[in-house]
Amino acid sequence: MNERTLIQPDTEFINYLKKNGGDTLKECYQCATCSVVCSLSPQHEAFPRKEMIAAGWGQKDKLISDPDVWLCHGCTDCSTYCPRGAKPADVLGAVRSYIIEFFAFPRFMGRIVKKPAYLIPLLLVPFIILFLFLYNNFDGNFSQLNEGTVRFSRFLPHIIVEAFFIGGNILIFIFAAIGLFRFWKNLNTITPVAKKQSFLGVLFATISEILTHKNFNTCSENPSRFWGHLLIFYGFLGAMLTAGLAVGALVLYDLSPIPLFHPIKILGNLSGIALVIGCIVVAVHRFRTKSEKGSNTYNDWVLILFVFLVAVTGLLTQTLRLLETPFLAYNTYFVHMVFIFFLLWYAPYSKLAHMFYRTLAMVYLKMNGRDKKAAIFLNMLILTFLIRW
Ligand code: SF4
Ligand code: SF4
Repeated sequence: MNERTLIQPDTEFINYLKKNGGDTLKECYQCATCSVVCSLSPQHEAFPRKEMIAAGWGQKDKLISDPDVWLCHGCTDCSTYCPRGAKPADVLGAVRSYIIEFFAFPRFMGRIVKKPAYLIPLLLVPFIILFLFLYNNFDGNFSQLNEGTVRFSRFLPHIIVEAFFIGGNILIFIFAAIGLFRFWKNLNTITPVAKKQSFLGVLFATISEILTHKNFNTCSENPSRFWGHLLIFYGFLGAMLTAGLAVGALVLYDLSPIPLFHPIKILGNLSGIALVIGCIVVAVHRFRTKSEKGSNTYNDWVLILFVFLVAVTGLLTQTLRLLETPFLAYNTYFVHMVFIFFLLWYAPYSKLAHMFYRTLAMVYLKMNGRDKKAAIFLNMLILTFLIRW
């Protein structure tokens, strides 16, 4: 009797993908158009076609160990050209979302951060912690803040902000590192990483590639998405750098508030403006493509919304301080801090975690000698042939 291996579809996994933007996964009939149009598809791996087969069959274990899933940056070229109306870009987005949830530490955080029902309770955590601290600091008498010049260090002493910021970040870093370690270990169970190159050397090369955003720029259908993502990416880096420099300026030179035309303040303001414009560009792009290509999940929108809110409240806080309106300035600053902690504390479980998982997967692929340039050339050749034919 012939022995055959039967595939056992993981129906729970299929349902998860369907609920998280991958509802078209069963439409695929394996024509491979998506692999042809995808400029990032590797030469010998029909990406994202093979991921569409695995998703359709509910092969969870295969997909969570598939680093190619992270090559995709969601340009939606494949969804545009799919003759069946399947949306590989969204199916891959749902797989990435599952991976972050699957490896999250603690696991329950991975689940609740993605559920709209938990948005308010999650926001209430930093709100209550900061409010209790303030209440204690002012003995419940907030009216005293309406007097004198606006000084945020009076409202929330820097030592407290830094304790929340640094302490929270260390904890989050540990939790994120546990998730990433599990992810890396799982990648290595299928094909152990080649030891020919040093991890740090490849990591450096990968970060350089990410900084130039060159993969984003290969997309043919949605160039505005590239600019939106670029502005958000550099706006975010600039904002983080500003926060670090501001702490340094305070500790070393007791510089607070930082003057408006000081380089640190200029960097902060430019970063804030970049974030606002980037979020608007991405949001407009998503609204415009909503019905045709992108599913626009809750996770996508929450990240864009809160990055936007952090930037807007940050710029507004500064303006209100300069206008000397204590009531509005302090309240806006409080809301700004709540939004910042909401973004940072839940980063290992939200869409922000993509940047860490994607970086690690890219390192893994590079260490295993993935040659992408040849694939791009091959795909362009096939596409040219198809168009002319
Ligand atoms: S183009 Fe569409 S139908 Fe063809 S393999 Fe890709 S997802 Fe499937
Ligand atoms: S969304 Fe873009 S990068 Fe991702 S698989 Fe489709 S074509 Fe490739």
